Amino acid sequence: MSVPEAPHILILGGTGEAAALAGAVVARGSDRVKVTTSLAGRTAAPAAVPGESRVGGFGGPDGMARYLKEAGVSVVVDATHPFATQVSRHAVTACSAAGVPRLRLDRPAWTPGDGDRWHMMPSISDAAQALPDYGRRAFLTVGRTELAPFAACRDVWFLVRMVDRPETPLPLANSVLEIGRGPFDVAAERDLMSRHEIDILVCKASGGDMTRAKLDAARALQCPVLMIARPRSPDGPRVHSVAGAMDWIGNRIGALWT
Ligand code: NAP
Repeated sequence: MSVPEAPHILILGGTGEAAALAGAVVARGSDRVKVTTSLAGRTAAPAAVPGESRVGGFGGPDGMARYLKEAGVSVVVDATHPFATQVSRHAVTACSAAGVPRLRLDRPAWTPGDGDRWHMMPSISDAAQALPDYGRRAFLTVGRTELAPFAACRDVWFLVRMVDRPETPLPLANSVLEIGRGPFDVAAERDLMSRHEIDILVCKASGGDMTRAKLDAARALQCPVLMIARPRSPDGPRVHSVAGAMDWIGNRIGALWT
């Protein structure tokens, strides 16, 4: 009698939630399932994830569909960042082509509370256009690939935070670079913003706990925030927590899991 192959769970990662899910799967049954986390390879020294990992693009949706078949993937959990829209779109196409069930793990969004002064912006370019009306010393935490639209803000000084030191100079006339990786704490964020006399915070509505401290610091300092709205995530099954993703996986791979 042939022994059934262990189900193979592919997590599209690059987020704290993806790493937490990989950890939860390994803790539940590393002897009964195989879990692989896929990383884009954007950060120089990504934090280690439990289970196996692979690094680099798949080569578009066709390449991802090929990988799903060749690696014998049973289910895909798309736990990429809410602003990583291309890979999420590719996952929809690839999973449908390969006949592999897909789940979107969308971390909970942030919501403003008393004392927050958030101004929602539909896109990065809208935020860049509006910025000079809101402040002159901006804390910019939008990621290294999204800086270009802010180059036009010639009268704004920027404190730019990134995970890795960029290989090319920032496209901003007046800026200082801060290298840092979350999680951040409120006291340190408050100190950083005070030291640089920040009068406006510009960030993406990423959600989650890793980077929310800057918002608590902004509230304490009565600093306004230009909050770039989340893009729409693909239709289909969706959960907002690692526990929800574990339940969905359990329902898909059944007896081998419990
Ligand atoms: P993106 O624009 O949606 O994707 C661009 C391309 O990068 C994709 O077409 C794919 O290449 C490759 N890719 C992205 N995520 C991948 C993954 N997990 N595994 C394998 N290939 C992946 O993505 P992005 O906004 O550049 O984000 C890249 C990574 O950084 C993601 O893993 C995301 O979770 C993480 N991240 C993004 C942000 C953000 O603000 N965008 C913030 C924090 C972390 P192919 O077409 O060749 O397959």
